[in-house]
Amino acid sequence: MDAKTAAQERFGEIRSELVALSHRLHAHPELGFEEEKSAAWVAERLDAAGFAVKRGICDLPTAFIASAGRGPLHVAICAEYDALPGIGHACGHNIIAAMAVGAAIAAARVADEVGLTLSVIGTPAEEVGNASGKILLLERGAFQGIHAAMMVHPAPFDMLAAKIIAASMFEVHYTGKESHASAFPELGINAADALTVAQTAVGLIRQHIRSTDRIHGIVTQGGDAPNVVPAHTRAKYIIRSETLEQLNELRPKVYRCFGAGAVATNTKVRITGGDKPYAEMRHDAAMAALYRRNSEALGRPFPNLGEWETRPTGSTDMGNVSLAVPSIHPMIGIDSLPAVNHQPEFAAHCVTPAADKALADGALAMAWTAIDLATDPSLRARLTAAREGA
Ligand SMILES: [Zn+2]
Ligand SMILES: [Zn+2]
Repeated sequence: MDAKTAAQERFGEIRSELVALSHRLHAHPELGFEEEKSAAWVAERLDAAGFAVKRGICDLPTAFIASAGRGPLHVAICAEYDALPGIGHACGHNIIAAMAVGAAIAAARVADEVGLTLSVIGTPAEEVGNASGKILLLERGAFQGIHAAMMVHPAPFDMLAAKIIAASMFEVHYTGKESHASAFPELGINAADALTVAQTAVGLIRQHIRSTDRIHGIVTQGGDAPNVVPAHTRAKYIIRSETLEQLNELRPKVYRCFGAGAVATNTKVRITGGDKPYAEMRHDAAMAALYRRNSEALGRPFPNLGEWETRPTGSTDMGNVSLAVPSIHPMIGIDSLPAVNHQPEFAAHCVTPAADKALADGALAMAWTAIDLATDPSLRARLTAAREGA
């Protein structure tokens, strides 16, 4: 039996269990850095399959690394398992986690034979937008010695190398002074007006930024009562650009708009966060080509998506991993249209037969790609040399 058939057989033995794991995660959504049950369930399954598991790595209680095999090529599969406030697993991270477990257990069946070490890295808090799990794990050395990394993300349709852009989330706080809004308005300093001025300024600078830049946010605190001049307001904003370099050009323009709010109203402004942004994704072309072939062999071709192929999409901290380690991040379709990621309707699609099929196909395509990386001599040489030089 060849290595890919052996991995496929192993996957067949655990498929129904992984679907159950995916559904269980979906039924218990946990927010970033609070994924206690989710991380435990995912790590437990790998433990039961004979992986050596280290929990709470890098001072992150909901991160882990689980490894199997003793081969010289070390491939990491990233497992995300955080959910979104209010709308649960509306990004399908339940599928990502189960898929990572499936891929690693299937490939581990032949790891020593083909010369692989496989690790699942449990990466918390992908949705938080700043200083997220993978960024902290990278800083603290969790990816040291890894030669290639991959993960597959659910989406409305299959897409091999989506244009994933850089992003930075930050919080803005304005401080003014309370006063009776009718009897003594001249004694008040209005922190809600500061936000209004800032949002107007942000609206105006849209004419003078790149068409691929994004600025979007919400007011999280707008005041407490209509008859009290608001003294404390807050907003959360995300800025995005095609690259970290362009993001660094956009940032001061947007920060100046928030400064304008403070100047106009005599409030004090404080900006927190934004210090550990998400990088753009650099897809490794050779790895992506192998993944494409494996996906097609499973009867899952990549359709021509026209303008979608080059249109900027979302952001992920897998981008940061991809700048440090050759990586791929294909999107796998769960047949959800018109529902798209970050909608409650998409969350409902993440436990359908189409989602379960995506789990199986994505897991196997990753397992086979890991086997290809180990058995292609030139690619293997390139991956191991790149990391030794790093
Ligand atoms: Zn998301
Ligand atoms: Zn996501």
